Amino acid sequence: MANALRGEPGRQPDSAPRPRPGVLNIPPYVAGRSAAPGGAKPIKLSSNECALGASQKAMAALRDAAADLHRYPDSAATALRVAIGAFHGVEADRLVCGDGSDELLHLLVQGYAGPGDEVLYSEHGFVVYPMVAQAVGATPVRCAEVNCRIDVDAMLAKVNPRTRVVFVANPNSTGTYIPQADVERLRSKLPADVLLVLDAAYAEFVEAHDYEPGIAMVRATNNTVMTRTFSKAFGLAGVRLGWAYCPPAIAEVLNRLRAPFNVTLPAQRAGVAALEDREFFAAVRAHNGKWRPWLEKELVALGLDPVPSVANFVLTRFPGGAAQANAANAHLTKRGVLVREMTAYGLGDCLRITVGREDELKALVAGLKDFLGK
Ligand SMILES: *Cc1c(COP(=O)(O)O)cnc(C)c1O
Repeated sequence: MANALRGEPGRQPDSAPRPRPGVLNIPPYVAGRSAAPGGAKPIKLSSNECALGASQKAMAALRDAAADLHRYPDSAATALRVAIGAFHGVEADRLVCGDGSDELLHLLVQGYAGPGDEVLYSEHGFVVYPMVAQAVGATPVRCAEVNCRIDVDAMLAKVNPRTRVVFVANPNSTGTYIPQADVERLRSKLPADVLLVLDAAYAEFVEAHDYEPGIAMVRATNNTVMTRTFSKAFGLAGVRLGWAYCPPAIAEVLNRLRAPFNVTLPAQRAGVAALEDREFFAAVRAHNGKWRPWLEKELVALGLDPVPSVANFVLTRFPGGAAQANAANAHLTKRGVLVREMTAYGLGDCLRITVGREDELKALVAGLKDFLGK
């Protein structure tokens, strides 16, 4: 036993398993903060979660699922896929559900890129894109945006024979969007063997008539995938549930790569119930349609510079730059109001604010007023 513990002869006695090259270069994900100083219950406007909480029906389904906790979930998530298909008008057999859409972003890159390949993403896109690229040993390539908006030509300029996957968050993590015509132009100029991933995490909030989340394009092509989530408009961030609408061959790849039971039984039940609660969904959208413009107006009145948003959050620039943004963040934190610091997105002079409840937004505005001495 002593010999076995000492390991094979010739090995360094203190050697240990070493991760693959590049793994330790992946920056750790920094989530929106959730704790306030002094342990008070914070006003959390840092992760773009649902302002109205979760649907009561989803909560009830989750409680009922407790009776079946000893059962494995349905590996194919059939009832959930059928419910998503009916809600969104998409074919259930082209849907793959995931442990959050995050998992699907990982699997897509795992399936289509590797060492030596390039994965394109836009300057202020979701910070997860470069991480998933690095996780498979591929090289993330950042493409410039214009005014926090994706620039299709800047993305196309970075395409080369090594490009395998292009990520487009639409709406973007800045709250802006690009119209369907721009997405179509991007797709038509990308090589056919490059996978385009349209991450439409905030699609449910968009009211613009020239926006399309990607359903039409996935249906019309064999090289585009749309990812969606239950974390934002459906209020289920805690259970982790997302889905991808795919061409059949890509659905097949994701189904081979994913863990057989990647979506838990409670998540599947809660997802179905959330889709059935049309009233709650309508209330979420109506709330956002009212309070996002209100928040934007208040920020402008305070002399800040919000980026026009179509999502459930507002990114706002501080005229005093990163120093002012950081000081404002510290001031709000002291008052128990948590917003998103944006350095990881290359936007150190900005803070990002979730469109929360009325009382939460009023507390936020009061905190900013106080900070700015207005
Ligand atoms: C929140 C968000 C997601 C959703 O992630 P989940 O893993 O489904 O919670 C995906 N993309 C973007 C751009 C997001 O902001």
